[in-house]
Amino acid sequence: MDSTSLMKTFKGERVPRITMATFKQQQVEDFYEIGEELGSGQFAIVKQCCERSSGRDFAAKFIKKRQSNASRRGVLREEIEREVNILQQIHHPNIVTLHDVFENKTDVVLILELVSGGELFDFLAQKESLSEEEATQFIKQILEGLQYLHVKNIAHFDLKPENIMLLDKNAPVPRIKLIDFGLAHKIAEGVEFKNIFGTPEFVAPEIVNYEPLGLEADMWLSGASPFLGETKQDTLGNISAMNYEFDDEFFGHTSELAKNFIRQLLEKDTKYVIDLLTYS
Ligand code: ATP
Repeated sequence: MDSTSLMKTFKGERVPRITMATFKQQQVEDFYEIGEELGSGQFAIVKQCCERSSGRDFAAKFIKKRQSNASRRGVLREEIEREVNILQQIHHPNIVTLHDVFENKTDVVLILELVSGGELFDFLAQKESLSEEEATQFIKQILEGLQYLHVKNIAHFDLKPENIMLLDKNAPVPRIKLIDFGLAHKIAEGVEFKNIFGTPEFVAPEIVNYEPLGLEADMWLSGASPFLGETKQDTLGNISAMNYEFDDEFFGHTSELAKNFIRQLLEKDTKYVIDLLTYS
């Protein structure tokens, strides 16, 4: 992938210049045997695949390209390039890695590390109970992955239970892998970035209110969304008004320490988002 080339500045240093990325134009099927579907999103289907040359298993994410500016279906080429570009910068044990990228007329195909333990959400749903000690083993890994991203000034912007997966759910302490960098952005200092995106239950108030966004928008989590309303509009209204409560059904057995941790995550004023990453 030649997404960058080197350019000389007036001081003579060599710095990367962003050009249009070119992905492998060969048929992905010639290099990978494509297997069963693992999951899907709005414009992507993810299938298991096996690299013919090595016999290694991967996950192939087929992202539908938007075919015309007038269309509302598919993903803009520049957005796919952004996802690829960000994934290329990431090498961390708690984040999915990118192995290769192919392209044909209709799709860009990301060959990703296979994360075969399923979603953390399903793993937890199947367990009878989860102690806070066990929960901290997962939270720690999520925060370590997030800290790595934030040090690189990358905001994920779509952290939610579906995007937190397990490498092997049978391991004594399953390894967390953060996935789906479709909304991720590199935050440039001094450049205002606003957007409306994400999943209603999990978005931070600055997204609902269309305010400038930064890394803090990722620091907004709780197990069950305490903001969930009857409708999407109610949910967004609750987030914006910071109208939430720890429902006894979900939080009855939660310690004050854990609730305090969540309260600090649910901080509306981004100026006061404390560095929770030091918890990890
Ligand atoms: P959304 O529209 O929800 O943002 P998306 O189109 O960006 O989703 P992903 O979230 O990246 O797609 O992937 C969709 C689903 O495919 C995931 O929820 C997960 O179940 C599965 N999946 C994605 N990446 C992998 C992987 N590397 N290994 C195994 N399964 C994966």
